Amino acid sequence: MESSSTSSNTTGGGVEIQGRTCRCGSKVRMFTSRTQQNPGRRFLRCPGVCGQRCDFFEWVDQYGCDHGAAIVPGLIVRLNQLEGQYRMVETEINRLETENRRLLESFVNLQAANNALLYKFKLVLICVISCLLAFVCFM
Ligand SMILES: [Zn+2]
Repeated sequence: MESSSTSSNTTGGGVEIQGRTCRCGSKVRMFTSRTQQNPGRRFLRCPGVCGQRCDFFEWVDQYGCDHGAAIVPGLIVRLNQLEGQYRMVETEINRLETENRRLLESFVNLQAANNALLYKFKLVLICVISCLLAFVCFM
């Protein structure tokens, strides 16, 4: 998950604002502040061009509200917990995908070995049947 390049904490990588372009040519993104000073207050930032930082910054909400200040810190704690759980699940999925690839490779190798053994078994069976026929015919 992309994070803001600001020194303040923000939610995720922000949301692209349609029709709003920075003077550098990039599309402006909206973030939500997670700071103690401005909890829940939305602001605009520019992601910059080709890795070059851009200093564009603008508040969307001119002031934070008391209700937001009361509930946003708890929501931020919960969001951070959920992001931590998401990263753990993502790590587990990656581990399982790696294990799945390893097992699939083992299965393919075992299938090839099984086919080789089956071929040898058929050869031996043909030899045994031929010997039995020869034995019966020459008795
Ligand atoms: Zn810019």
